Amino acid sequence: MSDPTSSYRGRLAPSPTGHLHLGHARTFWIAAERARAAGGTLVLRNEDLDAVRFRLDFVSAMLEDLRWLGLEWQEGPDVGGPHAPYQQSGRRSFYRAALGKMHAAGLIFPCTRSRRDVLEAIGAPHEEAGADDEPVYPREFRPARDAPLPPLEEKIGVNWRLRVPEGETIEFVDGNFGPQRAVAGRDFGDFLVWRKDDVPSYQLACAVDDAAMKMTEVVRGADLIRSTFRQILVYRALGLAPPRFHHCPLMTDESGVRLAKRHDALSLRSLRAQGTKPEEIVAKFG
Ligand code: GLU
Repeated sequence: MSDPTSSYRGRLAPSPTGHLHLGHARTFWIAAERARAAGGTLVLRNEDLDAVRFRLDFVSAMLEDLRWLGLEWQEGPDVGGPHAPYQQSGRRSFYRAALGKMHAAGLIFPCTRSRRDVLEAIGAPHEEAGADDEPVYPREFRPARDAPLPPLEEKIGVNWRLRVPEGETIEFVDGNFGPQRAVAGRDFGDFLVWRKDDVPSYQLACAVDDAAMKMTEVVRGADLIRSTFRQILVYRALGLAPPRFHHCPLMTDESGVRLAKRHDALSLRSLRAQGTKPEEIVAKFG
């Protein structure tokens, strides 16, 4: 039960691009426990912007698997709430308004370079930069600060990037890992806020939603710490205060490889099919 006097708001933000595995389950369980301990509200947000990997059957599977595990949320796509819609595909107007604000403030620029151009310019082998992280955008590709900014098209056909404050140290205190810092332009570069296929980037959509849904704490996997620095800059660009952050250690398989959606044997679905009980899974998280 959430306590009406508690201001804590947390969220589960799964992407329907595969079946949830034990690593997701542990992170979501920690998020739910933190919300419960604070007597707060837990929100489920369906992060369904990835049109290439998105599948409708994964949406119902993830909700079902999380309920099976015993998690409960007070707001979400299946239960409604004051900040609906709770699926990102229905929230485009929020993202577009944020992009317009950044454009009006001159904080973004259009970029016609491909990922390959970027990797070549920094001399990185193509497979080096992980798919879930962006290579540092080369300084020489940046337009001059006073270069005239083309208008935002109705249907966007180029990548738009946020110009990071070169050399500035961005800091936050993680609820689990303690003080974190990264230097803009060195540890991460000008990052995508809108893609040329007219889809907002994860960084933009996530920060806009966490602010609009009034999150007080974001609990997620440690693989997203680098994204947090970028999202702090999205909040700043929009004149919004960031929430607190609590990153959870990632789970690895027996050979030390980080769990991914391809580890189907460790998916909640398979464990359930093999007769594992939710309480046996949760007992290992505590
Ligand atoms: N939807 C993202 C994922 O599944 C997580 C986003 C977040 O928690 O900020 O990887």
